[in-house]
Amino acid sequence: MAKVELKGITKIYDGNVLAVEKSNVTIEDKEFCVFVGPSGCGKSTTLRMVAGLEDITAGELLIDGELMNDVPPKDRNIAMVFQNYALYPHMTVFDNMAFGLKLRKVDKAEIKRKVDEAAKMLDLTTYLDRKPKALSGGQRQRVAVGRAIVRSPKVFLFDEPLSNLDAKLRVTMRSEISNLHHRLQATMIYVTHDQIEAMTMGTKIVVMSEKRIQQIGAPLYLYNHPINKFVAGFIGTPPMNFFTLRIAEKDGRVVAEEGSFTLVPTPEQQKSLKDKGYVGKEVYFGIRPEDIHYQASPAAENNMQLKVTNKEPLGADTHVFVQVKDKTIVARVAPEVEVQLGDSINFTPDMSKAKFFDLSTEVNICEEIKNTWSDTNSSKGAK
Ligand code: ADP
Repeated sequence: MAKVELKGITKIYDGNVLAVEKSNVTIEDKEFCVFVGPSGCGKSTTLRMVAGLEDITAGELLIDGELMNDVPPKDRNIAMVFQNYALYPHMTVFDNMAFGLKLRKVDKAEIKRKVDEAAKMLDLTTYLDRKPKALSGGQRQRVAVGRAIVRSPKVFLFDEPLSNLDAKLRVTMRSEISNLHHRLQATMIYVTHDQIEAMTMGTKIVVMSEKRIQQIGAPLYLYNHPINKFVAGFIGTPPMNFFTLRIAEKDGRVVAEEGSFTLVPTPEQQKSLKDKGYVGKEVYFGIRPEDIHYQASPAAENNMQLKVTNKEPLGADTHVFVQVKDKTIVARVAPEVEVQLGDSINFTPDMSKAKFFDLSTEVNICEEIKNTWSDTNSSKGAK
């Protein structure tokens, strides 16, 4: 049982550098919680405060309801896996994994039992006598994970553990760590800048930007219901497309206009845009590449005729780049669709999937976003 609560956690480094501002998040027992965001947004600092490697400037950190702010790292019952593995080069795999237990004066037979068990779980049994330099990157990372497992900690912390591995190995290790979470049924907190890692591994994702938590939720909830333009653009590849449109009222309908085309929002979107005073104003229009549909001939409504500037055939689908005003946007089309550079082709956005964001605050205008885990994880909230 290990529940981790961050209550108004703030970190200001020496020299008045704000690194984390008022983070509130509860990580439930057995959850795999991923903190994700661009470099410098405060993820590692958050993790290091949970580990006790950094002082907490303000706020409270609780583990299973107990205040941890002043508890030394070794007494928090936490194990951390670092990006650079932090293995001892002169020690064998066995000794690297056993090191923490030896320091704690655990009985020799017990150490052997624990190391053997972890090695088996991580497929390292045949490597126990080797030194780290005789291992591949993926194997070294598994030793680092094994060293955490043998301690049977309450909470596992991972700080960008896969960023030193090549792309293919990262994919394998992603599912290995997910499987491990499933087998150990432990609370895990994982930091990454890679939104794909977050989406594929997390049961709960905390999106950070500019030292602040932007949104907390289940992966698909964040994908389908981003609270603002940052989250919308950060989660998903290729990212959501954005361009500005002017909201107007025409023939009793609220429409979104660009010089060369007019889009008709859904009735619910029209009501929100009108009720919130956006008629006559510009907004950001957001649409994912898979929600822009190619049309062989112009659609009667919501047709955008756009010029092709580039295309990337990927096999399963083709990314077609088109120009909207001064912006290039990307549509994901079926591989059999034939388009040539310079062609003007017809696309229709699925307006039920489209998002509208305020030009200055960048908040999602038309959706009521639930920003707490219990809300987004309920059968009603999650989609
Ligand atoms: P992330 O893990 O998201 O890349 P960090 O938590 O490492 O971000 O950093 C958050 C902010 O705190 C950054 O602006 C970074 O420059 C600053 N920072 C990190 N560590 C220190 C430190 N030891 N002293 C001063 N500033 C720091």
